Amino acid sequence: MNYDVAIIGAGPGGIYAAYELVKNNAGLNIVIFDSGHELSKRKCPIDGEKVKSCIKCKVCSIMNGFGGAGAFSDGKYNITNDFGGSLYEYIGKKTALDLMHYVDDINMEYGGANTKMYSTADSTFKKICMQNDLQLLDASVRHLGTDINYVVLTNLYNFLKDKVTFLFDTAVTNIEVKDSHYQIDYKDTSITADKCIVSVGRSGSKWIEKVCEDLGITTHSNRVDIGVRVEIPAAIFSHITDQLYESKIVYRTHKFEDNVRTFCMNPNGLVVNENTNGIVTVNGHSFEDPAKKTDNTNFALLVSKRFSVPFKDSNGYGESIARLSNMLGGGVIVQRFGDLERGRRSTEERIAQSRVKPTLNATPGDLSLVLPKRILDGIIEMIYALDKIAPGTANDDTLLYGVEVKFYNMEVEVDNHLETKYKGLYMIGDGSGVTHSLSHASASGVYVARDILNLN
Ligand SMILES: Cc1cc2nc3c(=O)[nH]c(=O)nc-3n(C[C@H](O)[C@H](O)[C@H](O)COP(=O)(O)OP(=O)(O)OC[C@H]3O[C@@H](n4cnc5c(N)ncnc54)[C@H](O)[C@@H]3O)c2cc1C
Repeated sequence: MNYDVAIIGAGPGGIYAAYELVKNNAGLNIVIFDSGHELSKRKCPIDGEKVKSCIKCKVCSIMNGFGGAGAFSDGKYNITNDFGGSLYEYIGKKTALDLMHYVDDINMEYGGANTKMYSTADSTFKKICMQNDLQLLDASVRHLGTDINYVVLTNLYNFLKDKVTFLFDTAVTNIEVKDSHYQIDYKDTSITADKCIVSVGRSGSKWIEKVCEDLGITTHSNRVDIGVRVEIPAAIFSHITDQLYESKIVYRTHKFEDNVRTFCMNPNGLVVNENTNGIVTVNGHSFEDPAKKTDNTNFALLVSKRFSVPFKDSNGYGESIARLSNMLGGGVIVQRFGDLERGRRSTEERIAQSRVKPTLNATPGDLSLVLPKRILDGIIEMIYALDKIAPGTANDDTLLYGVEVKFYNMEVEVDNHLETKYKGLYMIGDGSGVTHSLSHASASGVYVARDILNLN
C-alpha cells in the first residue's frame, strides 16, 4: 500500500499535521501509526485501591495513544517563544507565534470555546517578582484543563477518523529510505509513503535515536531538567494562580548562580506518576471541572543540566537519578519540606500528620539521598525565594515529590522546513528535541503539513 503521507505518532504534533493536511487537501491518502491505543481505550490501571502505583505497563496509557503524552495533561497551551521549545529558531518568532494562535483557534472550535486565556501582560506580579530577585517569563496561557482537553481530542479524532487511516497499537519498527519514497516497517509488514512525518514524542526517544543513527542523521545532545514537584495548599499561591494560572518564574541561586525555575503549575490539581521507558517520575495536572478540583496546588522546581565532554548523555544522567529514587522508594518519593530541612526522612506517620494532604500515593522518604547536593541546595534556596512572594511556600508541611525529570530528546538536525537531510522526511514535536510543549509540538505539526502542501 502506498500513502501520500505517513505520520508516525498520534500526539499533538501528528494530530495537527493530519488536521492541516486533511483540511487543505481532502484527497490525500494519509496513514497515522501509534504504538498506543485509541483515546477511548487509554486507561492507566492505577485506581488508588487495587493498583496504587505504577505497574510499568508495556505500553503506558498516560504517554501513548491518540493525544500522545498530552492526552490526560492539564492542557495548558503556553503561547510564547520564551519557553516550551526552540521552534522559533527554525521557523522564525512571528511564524511560531502565529501557528500557536492558529492551534488555539482550532482548540476553541473543537470544544475549548469556554475556557480561559491568561496573560502575564500588564501583570502587577511581574514587578513583585523583580523586587524579590525573581523573574517572571512572558506568556499567554490557554488552560483547557484535563477534561476539556479530552473533549477537544475526542472531537478532533471524530473529525479525522474517516478521513485518514489510523493504525493504533502499532509501533513502527524501522524507516527505510527508498529512491522516491519511504518504507515504513511494523509488525512484520510494511507500507510505503511519499512523505513521512516522525512525531514520536519523548516516549519515542530511544527509537528515534536509533532511526537517526541508522539513517546517518546527525543528533546533538540536549539538556535534562531535574528537580521536585512541590505541593502546597492552593490558598498560598491563589493570588498568583487566579491572575496568571501558570507562572514561569526563574531564580538565580546565590550559592552556585544556577537557574531554578517553576514549571507546569496546576492550581487545585493532582500530582501524578509518569512512566518514561520504565522509569517512574512525577508530574501534575488539574481539571477545569470545579467538582474535580483539589485543595492543593502543585508545580515543579527544576534545574537544567547539559553535559558535553567527556560525558554527553544528559538524559542518562537524569535517568540514573530517577532510577535511584525508584530503587529507594519503589517509585516516587515524598518528603515534607520540614523533614528535608531537619535532615530526616519523612515517614507514613509524619505524612499523615501533615496539614497538606498528598494527592499522590508516594513513598515517604529522603530526597537528600537522591538528588545531587547542588540541585537540592538550589531548590531549597528557590523555595525560600518563593516564600517571599507567596508566604507559606517554605512551611514545614509543604510536600516535595521526587524526582521530577524532564527528559529532552536529542536534537535532530533538521533545516528550516523541519526536514532532515532526506527530502520529505520530517522530524517534529518533542521527538525531534525542537519542542517541549503542547503548543510548540502542535504548531510544528501544522508547519510541516503546510510545507508538504507548499503553503508556507
Ligand atoms: C502528565 C503530563 C502533563 C503534561 N502537561 C503539559 C501541559 O499542561 N502543557 C504542555 O505544554 N505540555 C505538557 N506536557 C508535555 C506535552 O504533553 C508534550 O510536550 C506533547 O504531548 C508533545 O507532543 P508530541 O506530539 O511531540 O509527542 P507525544 O505527545 O509524546 O506523542 C507521541 C506519540 O508517538 C507515539 N509513538 C512513539 N514511538 C512510536 C513508534 N515507534 N511507532 C508509533 N508510534 C510511536 C506515542 O505512542 C505517542 O502517542 C505534559 C506531559 C505529561 C506526560
